[in-house]
Amino acid sequence: MTTTARIVRTLGLAATVASSACAHTRSQTTAPSEQALPDPGDSSTPLRPPVRVGASVLVKSARVMTATGLTLDEGDVLIVDGVIQEVGENLTAPEGVAVVDARGKTVTPGLIDTHSHMGVYASPGLRAHSDGNEAVAPTTPYARAQDGYWPQDPQIPWAVAGGVTSAQILPGSANLIGGRSTVVKFYPHVRSAAEAHFPGAPDGMKMACGENPKRVYGDKGGPQTRMGNVAGHRRAFEDGKNYLRALRRYEEELDKYTRGERDEAPDPVDRDLGLETIAGVIEGDIFVHNHCYRADEMLIMMSLAKEYGFTIRSFHHAVEAYKIAPELAAAGTAASIWADWWGFKAEAFDGIRENAALLFLAGARPIIHSDSAIGIQRLNQEAAKAMYAGRRIGVEISDDDALRWITSNAAWALGVDEVAGTLSPGKMGDLVIWNTNPFSVYAKAEQVFIEGTLVYDRDDPATQPTTDFSVGWDLKAAQGANDQ
Ligand SMILES: [Zn+2]
Repeated sequence: MTTTARIVRTLGLAATVASSACAHTRSQTTAPSEQALPDPGDSSTPLRPPVRVGASVLVKSARVMTATGLTLDEGDVLIVDGVIQEVGENLTAPEGVAVVDARGKTVTPGLIDTHSHMGVYASPGLRAHSDGNEAVAPTTPYARAQDGYWPQDPQIPWAVAGGVTSAQILPGSANLIGGRSTVVKFYPHVRSAAEAHFPGAPDGMKMACGENPKRVYGDKGGPQTRMGNVAGHRRAFEDGKNYLRALRRYEEELDKYTRGERDEAPDPVDRDLGLETIAGVIEGDIFVHNHCYRADEMLIMMSLAKEYGFTIRSFHHAVEAYKIAPELAAAGTAASIWADWWGFKAEAFDGIRENAALLFLAGARPIIHSDSAIGIQRLNQEAAKAMYAGRRIGVEISDDDALRWITSNAAWALGVDEVAGTLSPGKMGDLVIWNTNPFSVYAKAEQVFIEGTLVYDRDDPATQPTTDFSVGWDLKAAQGANDQ
């Protein structure tokens, strides 16, 4: 257990002991009740989606791409109570389990996007729906994407229609530290971020390098330069380190007190939600997702991470990742990138189509992400573009390798690879039935299952919700109303 988690758990004990033994100390009243607040990292898990998932189904006779290196030309996937029980050939359905004949189709794991703002930049794109950047200060680690996530965003069902079953919802990149991300599953009909939360997924922390924080804060007190950016990051981690040290000191003193080695209970550390997030990063409980384009800046951020004792889980956008592929491989840092999107600003200038292939060649972890509610609908074809660009320069990449760029590698970056990202026994029954090879330009997701439950069927309008927000709006009128 980490220090922050231990502290939260020991607080109840502190309050009890303090009130019985040392009534004149102040610790038993104010601070413990503050610190007994639910931990933000845990509070998103207790609710479950209102639509029951966890059904059983046998998908038969498909080309099965498992994202583990194994592809079956004519295989079956058996899901029982939402969990993959078997992947193989000639499987028989247990009694009462529905069979889906997928002959001629291709089956893959549900796709996972490591970078989405759906729900926090919901459609229609009104200012009223701009909930992704808490752009009031360059460092806002206390903000949480789950508190701004609107699960009725009509963009979400369109992503599911593209075969995506899970995504990381991130704060935007205006800030050096934008806050916590949340990992969601696209369960149907969820009403809150808590219901959508990917069971057990850790929170992320969004960081940003380069032009965005400079642009947003250059005239508002800074940072105004890349020097200022890094100084701001370092200051935040110094504060986080000090907070952690204070928590550890408190814990030691509390131990002494409970062993009777000191007379008075120690004063608890006032809870700071922002510093708690940074402390969680240093302790490895919260994963850093770092928006960063240029190789030089990524190297600076990697050395800063080393200095403070954590690893950057994934760089995002990373158009120059290919220049530091061996370093990324050695550090165990993934790169969430686009197939061929660059050149839209100076720091995004040196992109190449072979970025993913060169990362793959170096043994690093490429991931194709969207950062777009449109791109997320075609992640499979984005991965295909990156795969073919690599093959053109002679890098040997199998279809299964490229599939991992949108499934298992993404699951790893989000800390859910033990339960998702491949078609393997014991993992969640999240899968897509495609009409053809998913890397074809003609590919369409025909059916999408989340934990064994059919959540999208191209032939069944009942699985294609149309919300009041996707029937067409007069945006100008709505924006005008918003201004009043
Ligand atoms: Zn983004």
